[in-house]
Amino acid sequence: MWKIDRDEYIILLTSAFDQFVDDFIAWTLDNQQIKLEELQLRIRDGNCRITKLAQRATKVRDYLCKFCSNSELNTVASMYYYYTSTYHVLPATGINNYSLIQETQELIHDAFGYFYDQLIDTIAFHNIYIHNYSGLPELKQEFRKYVGDKHPVCPYCDYSEIDIPRFSSIDHFFPKGRYALLSIYSNNLVLACAGCNDRIKGEHVTIPIFHPYFYNPDDYFYLSLDHEYETIEFIAKNDEYKVWVENFNNSFKLEELYNKRIRAVHSETGDLRGKVRRAFRNYKKTPLQGLKRRFETDGELIEFLLMNHIRYAIHKNKQLRGKEPLRKLKIDFYEQMLNIYFEKEKEYLLNIVS
Ligand SMILES: [Zn+2]
Repeated sequence: MWKIDRDEYIILLTSAFDQFVDDFIAWTLDNQQIKLEELQLRIRDGNCRITKLAQRATKVRDYLCKFCSNSELNTVASMYYYYTSTYHVLPATGINNYSLIQETQELIHDAFGYFYDQLIDTIAFHNIYIHNYSGLPELKQEFRKYVGDKHPVCPYCDYSEIDIPRFSSIDHFFPKGRYALLSIYSNNLVLACAGCNDRIKGEHVTIPIFHPYFYNPDDYFYLSLDHEYETIEFIAKNDEYKVWVENFNNSFKLEELYNKRIRAVHSETGDLRGKVRRAFRNYKKTPLQGLKRRFETDGELIEFLLMNHIRYAIHKNKQLRGKEPLRKLKIDFYEQMLNIYFEKEKEYLLNIVS
């Protein structure tokens, strides 16, 4: 549940997909309704990226020909440009459906299924679409390894680790079963944990929802812990985003997941108490020069130490976001400790140190 910042290398890898589809559509529009023999000659003699690729990949050649002769090609091209040019607002508004005949739908499904499943992992594709590519032979593996190394925790649940490719899964934010044209669109590919991907996939995305390339979901809700930290609830920070938060939470069954992980918060409490106690004893033995005689009572000292340790924990957790699990939960836990449970915690610590 955090925003993914894509660096230059991730953009280089995935923009190759977009360039390919742009070339594919542009070429078919330029050559639509041309006779098959002539098309094949144009592909054979062509010197642009898409024809070079088609010379090496039979299926690309076949699909170019099939799209050129498809009666709805102009609509398909409009759909693709509409989806991709408005993609950033679609998680808020949803996608308007175009109606296409069965034959066109099947063609899109087959072609884009092949692009995603096979074509983008071929050497021919890398050689033509990625300048000086030197990553793993399979591009999807390279994407999973690189993104997982950089952000080892799933952006949806902020819990499962995805630094080992077999634990990760490339999620199609708008599922490719329903939106086949977005099967290799760069913004639509999000590295997530297999659990989150399986939970959201197969059905449909419930709109409006936070997309981790455009939103930092953390900014829109807080995780509320009940007085004794027994349950965790997702609460929208303002009414405008209430439905967004509900959809995000429900899509990934987050409340359920988090309530199972509540022990992680209990152990943070234990850590904090231990640190404050040690700091209290040390101060009593040899007060630090700058803090000498500053505290007239144990209560004042405990309050100072507790405040310091909580603030430090919040700061540390913020820095680790996307690198260690449950950071959002831990940040919110400490913030509630500061605002709601501070006096209670102070009293508890005073009792055990005196
Ligand atoms: Zn996940």
